[in-house]
Amino acid sequence: MFAACPLHRRLAKLACLLVCLVAGPAEARVDVSQANSGYLGLQLYLGPASGKDLQTLSQAQASGQLQRSQQAVPRFGIGAPAQWLYLPLHNPQPLPVQRTLQIGEAWIDELDLYLLDPQGVLQHVQAGDGQLDRQQASPGMGFLLDVQIPPGDSALYLRVATADALILPMRLLDSQQVALAQQLSQYSYGALYGFLLALIAYNLMLYAGLRETSNLYYSLYLATFILLNLSYTGHAGAWLWPDSLYLKRYSTLLLMMALAWTGLRFARHFLDLASHAPRLDQALRHGSRLAVLLLILCVLADWHALANHLAFASVLLYTLLMVAAGWLSLHHGRVAARYFLAATLCGMLGTALTDLAVWGVIPFNPLTYRAVDLGILLEASLLALALAYQMRQHQQARRQAESLARQDPLTGLLNRRAFLEQGQQLWQDSQRSARPLALIMLDLDHFKQINDQHGHDVGDAGLLATARLLTARSRPDDLLARWGGEEFLLLLPNTQLDDAQALAERLREALLAQPLRCGNARLTLSASFGVAVRAQQASLELLIQAADERLYCAKQSGRNRVCGPAAQPGCCAIGLAAPADK
Ligand code: GH3
Ligand code: MG
Ligand code: MG
Repeated sequence: MFAACPLHRRLAKLACLLVCLVAGPAEARVDVSQANSGYLGLQLYLGPASGKDLQTLSQAQASGQLQRSQQAVPRFGIGAPAQWLYLPLHNPQPLPVQRTLQIGEAWIDELDLYLLDPQGVLQHVQAGDGQLDRQQASPGMGFLLDVQIPPGDSALYLRVATADALILPMRLLDSQQVALAQQLSQYSYGALYGFLLALIAYNLMLYAGLRETSNLYYSLYLATFILLNLSYTGHAGAWLWPDSLYLKRYSTLLLMMALAWTGLRFARHFLDLASHAPRLDQALRHGSRLAVLLLILCVLADWHALANHLAFASVLLYTLLMVAAGWLSLHHGRVAARYFLAATLCGMLGTALTDLAVWGVIPFNPLTYRAVDLGILLEASLLALALAYQMRQHQQARRQAESLARQDPLTGLLNRRAFLEQGQQLWQDSQRSARPLALIMLDLDHFKQINDQHGHDVGDAGLLATARLLTARSRPDDLLARWGGEEFLLLLPNTQLDDAQALAERLREALLAQPLRCGNARLTLSASFGVAVRAQQASLELLIQAADERLYCAKQSGRNRVCGPAAQPGCCAIGLAAPADK
């Protein structure tokens, strides 16, 4: 855009001033014939704070009032007044050279670039996302302003204005350097977004399959980060809302707040703050709602500066709160909080590095400037690890709960419910294969007396000793269970009646032969046994009932004995003598 407006006609009257403007002897001019892709900050001159227009600036420059910038990347803070900058150039070649002034931020509202030589204004480029008719930022690159630098001395004058944070990473690049920077930017953002999108897809699938809400909140958090990154790098402004000044103005601030909100939502759920830090959980819940409402109010009322401060303060506070919540959960013994804490510290470190680079405390280069992206990559990976760890813990706990629900807590044997489930399977197998199936039911004799005389603990020890004995003497395929108080069941696949009766007898003898220590005394336990087989029964329940009836017979016959099918009602005929082993 060449000079044509009234401003430039007025500028022409300043011709003599312009001669001084581009020919100050003390200035270190940028030699545009030299390849240089470094930041220009230290070669820039800053206009006085009172600088209003090119005329004021040129007067200030002529009288030597411009200050050399002390930072490679000048930074002016949030809501700073419009800033003028001056960059003296020298082209030693006889022909003009084409260069691109890159200003690596996408959120500057107004950018006015003037190229001057001693004859006057050669070029005026207007850019910025404050108006749609200005040149807009290139995705991932910031503003790329082309200038044709004439032979000899010339100068660039730049006016920048924005209500947001004003940072000026400026470089003067040739076409090859621009292409290379663009390639680098595309590859790196492609890798960043690709990685994060893959993590989102993976976690959404996990959520769809497992209904684990942490995975959903984590996906939302990552998606918000991508949108925020797209917004402040100018990708979103170019691709998603090219015609909306309002979104260009507020999308980054709204997404910063959304990132804080989704991050805290994820942290609260993942760390289960509600259960071990309920007050912090409530404070975070109400605090984040309040911050979101305030920001929405600022956006609706178009209080841009306030919205800026609120969004930046919220993100800062959010980072600190994430670390605090992780720390607290770790102190409450939550192991997954270890990964969470490491993850948030990585994210925080990345943000701090970028911040320090932008502040000028550490060197500003593409690596330090994009440390925030590297930080989020590490954070996302570690959080994925934390989620996987937590999922494994949940699975283990579920498996443990399931197995506990089928186990008798005292003896560790199967309980009644588990016995009926697994017994049904053995019953069907034996029916299908026409193989025998036998059942032994035993009940400790006069157990109430043992409890009464020696105490409940001794009773428990007796139950445990009986369970151990039964376990040791049964086969791996047998199904052993604690049926009730001091009653046990032993379901024996592939076992004939005689073998089952013989086993019951051996168990009876073994129990007698294994007295229980009770202080200095030795306590002998005995049990009565009922034996039944599948051949005579129509169902597992009836088989159990038959064994129970024979057990009752054994009790009736004087206890400490085995009763099989031969025992009839009024069974007292069966005595201590066991049937012969077959
Ligand atoms: P019988 O020879 O007729 O079977 O007499 P018994 O005393 O063994 O039978 P009864 O059914 O009258 O009493 C069973 C006792 O078993 C009563 C109860 O306190 C005891 N018992 C049940 N479960 C447990 C347990 O888990 N631990 C202990 N120590 N005792 C138990
Ligand atoms: Mg008993
Ligand atoms: Mg009993």
